Amino acid sequence: MNDINVIKKDVMHVGEMASGAALTVPVYRIQGQGHGPSVYIQANMHGAEVQGNAVIFQLLEQLKHIRLNGDITLVPYANPVGCNHKNGEYTLGRFDPITGVNWNRMYHYDDTNIAAFAKAHQTASVADIERAFKSEMIGQIEQKLNHNIYGLTTGQRIAYQLQRLAHQADIVLDLHTGPISSKHLYCPEYARASAHYFDIEHVLFIPNGFDGALDEATFCPWWQLQLAFAALGRDFPITRADTSQGKDLIIKESFTVELGSQEQIDLALALEDARGILSYLQYQGVMASDEFQPKTMRRYSCMLKDYKALYSPMGGMVDYLAEFGKPLPAGQPLARILRMDNYGDGEPLHAISLDHSVIPILHFASASVNQGTELYKVFSKYSILT
Ligand SMILES: [Zn+2]
Repeated sequence: MNDINVIKKDVMHVGEMASGAALTVPVYRIQGQGHGPSVYIQANMHGAEVQGNAVIFQLLEQLKHIRLNGDITLVPYANPVGCNHKNGEYTLGRFDPITGVNWNRMYHYDDTNIAAFAKAHQTASVADIERAFKSEMIGQIEQKLNHNIYGLTTGQRIAYQLQRLAHQADIVLDLHTGPISSKHLYCPEYARASAHYFDIEHVLFIPNGFDGALDEATFCPWWQLQLAFAALGRDFPITRADTSQGKDLIIKESFTVELGSQEQIDLALALEDARGILSYLQYQGVMASDEFQPKTMRRYSCMLKDYKALYSPMGGMVDYLAEFGKPLPAGQPLARILRMDNYGDGEPLHAISLDHSVIPILHFASASVNQGTELYKVFSKYSILT
């Protein structure tokens, strides 16, 4: 197949190491030919969560040949510190080793001016609102990056530069993985219609609350603006599903896409993952194509408040038993914990179960756990996505 798109590469400087070595991130851009939504996709903000880089490779391989209506920006290796943070044979890279802060909790969000912004733009056109609001958000980031005499932490400097790119797009996808995990999607509640277009069986609906992550940092402002307009009696749709024919269409959606387990890439699976993402992008009108259709599958959803961590009731060695992604009946064991110190004069095996049905989504990456280690994360209440 002939390439019809040119892929442009830039190298973004995001910081410096003690030796003076530059911390850089590659940024790939493909320009669309029409007026479709623009897209920002990044991967590997957490060091061990590497599958997203392979997905970006497969996306670029596909996107070369597809006519695009909107611009697409792709950033693999989004966090060069996390990516290179090895200890023995393992990659760490979930927390800044100096401050202990989660790398995906350092983005910026400030909602103090949103109500006033809505009031000032109550009768403005959708296009004018979009332009002004976007420039307001990017301005805040520029201010933080360039006019901050007390400086920024290493993680903030990386996060803000990524966020500046993300704010320029209509659709933001942050590619992560769990530790040992099934695929799942973090989806803002207002964008639930879009969850049908990813090939992901497990969907978490997240409320309008900011906890520092990139998806929230990019959808919360638009959601808050929508609510501020609603309080003034103005309808301000931000998803395709909410927009009736003939109205101005803007799409503002962000997702965290959890692609499976950490510490591994699988290029064949990455192609599947890429096709699922392209199915969603096609639905949003990013591409002039009908090649990518979502798979028929049973999708389960869970509200974020019902996504529960199960902490180990005891220390020991864990035999993880539960199959991911399938409802596990009440009383069935999730895991067995081996305690060889009790062999002969006590109970060496302990079954871990719950008194209600759950869907196990991910578990801890190691068999040895302390009392209180996060053993599993499960959908504690779930429904079939319709
Ligand atoms: Zn992650």
